[in-house]
Amino acid sequence: MENATYDVVVIGAGPVGENVADRVVQGGLTAAVVERELVGGECSYWACMPTKALLRSASALRAARRLPGAREAVTGDLDAAAVLRRRDSFASNWSDDRQVSWLDSAGIALYRGQGRISSDRGVEVQVGEDGPTVSLTARRAVVVATGSSALIPDVTGIREAAPWTSREAAVASEVPARLAVIGGGVVASEMATAFASLGSVVTVLARDGVLPLAEPFVGERVTQSLGEAGVSVRLGAEATSVHRDGDGTVHLTLTDGEQVEADELLVATGRTPNTQDIGLDRIGLKPGAWLTVDDTLRVVDEDGALVGDGWLYAAGDVNRRALLTHQGKYQARAVGDVIVVRAKGEAVEDGRWGRHVATADERAVPQVVFTDPEVASVGLTAAAAEAAGLRIRVVDYDLAAVAGSALHAEGYQGNARMVVDEDRQVIVGCTLVGPDVAELLHAATIAVVGEVPLDRLWHAVPAFPTVSEVWLRLLEAYGR
Ligand SMILES: Cc1cc2nc3c(=O)[nH]c(=O)nc-3n(C[C@H](O)[C@H](O)[C@H](O)COP(=O)(O)OP(=O)(O)OC[C@H]3O[C@@H](n4cnc5c(N)ncnc54)[C@H](O)[C@@H]3O)c2cc1C
Repeated sequence: MENATYDVVVIGAGPVGENVADRVVQGGLTAAVVERELVGGECSYWACMPTKALLRSASALRAARRLPGAREAVTGDLDAAAVLRRRDSFASNWSDDRQVSWLDSAGIALYRGQGRISSDRGVEVQVGEDGPTVSLTARRAVVVATGSSALIPDVTGIREAAPWTSREAAVASEVPARLAVIGGGVVASEMATAFASLGSVVTVLARDGVLPLAEPFVGERVTQSLGEAGVSVRLGAEATSVHRDGDGTVHLTLTDGEQVEADELLVATGRTPNTQDIGLDRIGLKPGAWLTVDDTLRVVDEDGALVGDGWLYAAGDVNRRALLTHQGKYQARAVGDVIVVRAKGEAVEDGRWGRHVATADERAVPQVVFTDPEVASVGLTAAAAEAAGLRIRVVDYDLAAVAGSALHAEGYQGNARMVVDEDRQVIVGCTLVGPDVAELLHAATIAVVGEVPLDRLWHAVPAFPTVSEVWLRLLEAYGR
């Protein structure tokens, strides 16, 4: 058996694992990553990149159609085959060659295979099903960055019907004539938008509503616009059984007995952590569970006690703090840096907003949902802020009433909401829904993370005539 020792061993070379390794190497330590599929992880090949590529062309087309002058220049429909080709290139044609050479240039060792924790600071890598085993030892830390997978709900017959998960939707080489979607969250809403624009007749079974965790006006707008795009959105509908017949047709039976037929079924009902087979049982943790971490992202057990002397870290989806690439990479920077300072015996900055903690995970996570209209949010919704016991004031503004919006697109429709913590006079949450609001989000994130007092925000003057003038309107609506 081959043996090797590094300062840090990272299991999982998705966006998070890669960044942890890069950070520790930049800090002067040695690092190896273990990867069982493609270096770059879910995001690069089956999630963020391919799905956004599926959505982008239709979004550009809609934008042109919303503008007199440009509208007349659009003479045809969306070219689905060209969209799929562009998607392929954004998924690097499912080759990780470039990522592997980047690892090499960054001085990070790569072991391909299933990584499992074998002992304190020990990781075994099984290369292939029956391949050799490599035994790795970490002098300083092992970092679990194994991500998450699609959760298949417990519906009769669903597995036998071989449904799509987000992976199959992201890599689809053909557009099904009829697509049924179980779920109403981000993946369900984005993929319903994408496949409707590519030509599928889409039915969405949204038991808990569309984007139910967002501000209520978000679900209303997205549901309405999905409907206008020809998508049948069944709010409150739930499938009780699924069956795929001999000709490939999928039959869904709903709780009220209604039948839905489709050529493909996409299941988008949440995520499960990739911890089933990573050796957690060897160190007293439960296989298949999300990993719980302390402020500096060290794994703790059910009683909140550190695993061992704190050699085990978990970053990215697997710790369930925020299942988003940018937030996982933010955690990766904190983890990489804290491992380095601990190795050097230097001071750990673990106070709120300190260098070695991921404070933003708690109340300042930005997210964009690339539906039509786009949804951009950061921080707490009004409901979440109230549940957290904050004394808040909610300020709403009609995005259509901003001069920049009217210029941006004919018939622009949208909403903006800011949630103000009345005791501290700072914004704790902001939600924008409307065409092309994604790029407005970072201003909101800076306001929330910077805890910029409203008094000072009056001096951040948005340029005229941009959609960002909504910031001034929100402040005016709040009053000075
Ligand atoms: C359809 C979809 C769209 C999304 N779109 C966005 C988006 O637009 N923006 C955004 O910010 N986020 C998006 N996300 C979320 C984003 O994909 C994840 O948050 C991100 O990929 C998490 O990164 P990670 O490194 O933690 O895990 P992953 O990307 O899942 O990477 C984990 C890696 O670990 C490897 N691995 C697992 N177990 C082992 C093991 N035992 N041994 C060796 N290797 C192992 C896996 O093969 C994988 O490569 C989307 C998710 C989905 C499902």
